[in-house]
Amino acid sequence: MELIVQKFGGSSLADAAGVMNVARVVTDTYKSGKDVVVVVSAQGDTTDDLISKAKELNPKPSRREMDVLLSAGEQISIALLAMAIETMDIPVCSLLGWQAGFQTNSTYGSARIKTVSGERIRMEIDKRNIVIVAGFQGLCKYDDITTLGRGGSDTSAVAIAASLGAERCQIYTDVDGIYTADPRKVKTAKRLNEITYDEMLELATLGAQVLNNRSVEMAKKYNVEIEVLSNLGGIPGTIVKEVANVEKMLVRGVTKDTNVARISIIGVPDEPGVAFRLFGKLASKNVNVDIILQSVGRGNTKDIAFTVCKDDAPAVLELLDDSLEFLKGNEIVCDTAVAKVSVVGAGMETHPGTASKMFGALFENDINIQMISTSEIKISVLIDVHDADRAVEAVHNAFMPEDSCRD
Ligand code: ASP
Ligand code: MG
Repeated sequence: MELIVQKFGGSSLADAAGVMNVARVVTDTYKSGKDVVVVVSAQGDTTDDLISKAKELNPKPSRREMDVLLSAGEQISIALLAMAIETMDIPVCSLLGWQAGFQTNSTYGSARIKTVSGERIRMEIDKRNIVIVAGFQGLCKYDDITTLGRGGSDTSAVAIAASLGAERCQIYTDVDGIYTADPRKVKTAKRLNEITYDEMLELATLGAQVLNNRSVEMAKKYNVEIEVLSNLGGIPGTIVKEVANVEKMLVRGVTKDTNVARISIIGVPDEPGVAFRLFGKLASKNVNVDIILQSVGRGNTKDIAFTVCKDDAPAVLELLDDSLEFLKGNEIVCDTAVAKVSVVGAGMETHPGTASKMFGALFENDINIQMISTSEIKISVLIDVHDADRAVEAVHNAFMPEDSCRD
């Protein structure tokens, strides 16, 4: 029999009506003759509420105890959903992460899944039970409860789909798919029918609210097809898979990231080894550097600018201050009023002219580009944060004329 994994997030299960609605979706799938494994996360804001409760008592609780606490949210969800399904006279069985065979490493708070044995799940499926599994949790080698990090139940669902060889992993959410831009900001944004894993990973800022990045990485690794769809049912969602139909669409999405800071070091010596020493230092402190720009030397100095995540900026500035001696730089400027706007699309690999089209759209709107970076399937520009929304709209409209979507 065909097996399908369905994952429901906290907003789908927020109250009794939501749980009942999920029960209906799940049992409909079951009644259509499929085996169903359901993965759920904690109801509504439960996880946030539990974190607040912990902080009231202890501002720095141990990660181990935090995981014991946070895993409780998912435990509530599986039991309530199972009870709802019981009222429909359909056989059902709820399982915690460890019962479902989730073995993780012991990085409490953001554990990595090692294996999902899935034996118990199989046993329950063979009895024609609907199996409901608590997402987000596992067990480490010390027999301690672990959690997979915020939003981790998407990854739980993909892991089960991979280990049981499910036909598809459906992720139900309160949006009806992945859009070419943030639909709340860009009126012409369109829902995509398909997208590749790589595009989805690049579209992190668009997809983050919808799909956890780790789950996409895992789906790519084990070739699990994901469908992102609305918990209200009705329309098919967006399929995430290895090769998507790219024919008509050069660009799959336009994103904005405002969690960026640009750090410029003015007047570093124009000699070998400077970049190595600078970025080596940052790497040794685990700072992720994104766009890097180095000016042409004049006299015997040059400038180096790079971007980092905004949260990392204070630590980087402190680090540079300490290392200034070897940099012999005379001025360091940090600008946090910047945004990164990117176009993403597997199609651009084989189509020249994507960059010029993007730059043209920005020029027509009088938006200045501070930095540029490109990869095979992405072009990013760094601009003034105040121009960001305008830039997304302009670039989006340049690439997505009305008839470009295959809907
Ligand atoms: N309940 C967890 C969280 O809120 C896991 C999840 O939602 O996927 O982060
Ligand atoms: Mg949640």
